[in-house]
Amino acid sequence: MTAAAPDDDGCWLSAAEQARQVKAGARTARALVDGYLARIAADDRDPRRLGAYLHVDADGARARADAIDAAIARGDDPGPLAGVPVALKDVLVTEGVPTTASSKILAGWVPPYDGTAVARLRAAGAIVLGKTSCDEFAMGSANEHAATGPVRNPWDRDRVPGGSSGGSAAAVAAGLCGAALGTDTGGSIRQPASFCGVVGLKPTYGRVSRYGAIAYASSLDQIGPMARTVEDVALLTEIIAGVDPHDATSIDAPAPALRAALDGGARGLRVGLPEEYFAAGVDPEVAAAVERALAILRDAGAETVPVSLPHTRYALAAYYVIAPAEASSNLSRYDGVRFGRRGGDRQASLLDMYRHSRGDGFGAEVKRRIMLGTFALRSGYYDAYYKKAQQVRALIARDFTRAFDDVDVLAAPVAPTAAWRLGAMAHPIDEYRADVLTLACNLAGLPGLSVPCGFTGGGLPVGLQLLGRPLDEATLVRAARVVERGAAIDRRPA
Ligand code: GLN
Repeated sequence: MTAAAPDDDGCWLSAAEQARQVKAGARTARALVDGYLARIAADDRDPRRLGAYLHVDADGARARADAIDAAIARGDDPGPLAGVPVALKDVLVTEGVPTTASSKILAGWVPPYDGTAVARLRAAGAIVLGKTSCDEFAMGSANEHAATGPVRNPWDRDRVPGGSSGGSAAAVAAGLCGAALGTDTGGSIRQPASFCGVVGLKPTYGRVSRYGAIAYASSLDQIGPMARTVEDVALLTEIIAGVDPHDATSIDAPAPALRAALDGGARGLRVGLPEEYFAAGVDPEVAAAVERALAILRDAGAETVPVSLPHTRYALAAYYVIAPAEASSNLSRYDGVRFGRRGGDRQASLLDMYRHSRGDGFGAEVKRRIMLGTFALRSGYYDAYYKKAQQVRALIARDFTRAFDDVDVLAAPVAPTAAWRLGAMAHPIDEYRADVLTLACNLAGLPGLSVPCGFTGGGLPVGLQLLGRPLDEATLVRAARVVERGAAIDRRPA
């Protein structure tokens, strides 16, 4: 697909380098946008197209690029992302650009405002290139629950890109944007980043405002960057982080100086290896790639020490009570009146109208989550399920607090396997199980990162997961940069 495209169009550069070149006058924002539009169009003509984008805002992107180029010609500084074309997961509300959460129920919705993270990217000079596919309402682990169909993995088009931010991961991995935003409720930035060989950072819960992120599970959801380099995720996180009056859970902490932390190296770093994350069930080729990353960290002067997070085995069950419970509440707003397309032509009663709107508008996985969550919250069951899950959540968070008394960062695989074949998940529970190594991070509200560290024998990317103390994204990018340098991975799929 990209083989025919000229290589000098700048589309494979990092976002940071694109901004540097645009500001220096070495490249125009307009040329970058046109380069991506040509690559996206070429992919669309491919019978095995990736399908990463749901909507490309070609006119908006060109106009914005011209405005940035004009500002630079005047001697103005458009900001640290000057001219960088970005892709946004379609759960991010974007003014004037269709936003659907990959759901039929939101088809045709054009939001009247930008979410905070999107507004901050734009204010930093970024150009919104388009909206990327994801699992419907971010529920899933393979991007196979999008109403518009699956996305393919650029490294092997018979395989999934991971999910739920699969479109953003595929777009970054295939050189179809400068960088992207995703959201991570239970792994949806880290796991697709791992499957597609890109860097993904899920910030501390509250680090980035959720205003304008279509809610899935509000106590877990977090927006974060996906990019081709560690420097880029550091840069994007600095830009989107910060307190916001529109989100009461956003944290009023000083902006993280992540780029300043990048080159801190690993000397003296204590890296904890949670034994529960290395237990049976991790594919040996994934484990081998992770081991190589740990060797890189040790060679750079880090010390790896075994730690235990004993409540890890309850994370999957707790998450799949809490997340659907919150989803069932959040998604009640799509009733065909206040939000969501009205379905059906026979509307004998109000109930009938609800039934058609929600019945036609939601896909099977979303309905399953709403039913699971509604069940867990029923009076009489609340204590047995939701309350119990919240108690487990507290124990999981305590495990991490104790581990971080002794270590600076935790390292583990992101997922038990590399990307699986399209359609391979026979049962929903199998897909839920694939999240087993990413969920605890969200339950505890910690920052987590995936950095490419190698490949399976079959050429599928594998990521190393790093988990940090609350608000300590700096140590994550510092360690990730060491792995990035040491692994020296060629990031371009054939
Ligand atoms: N796969 C998990 C789920 O389906 C996580 C999704 C996410 O992080 N948005 O809930």
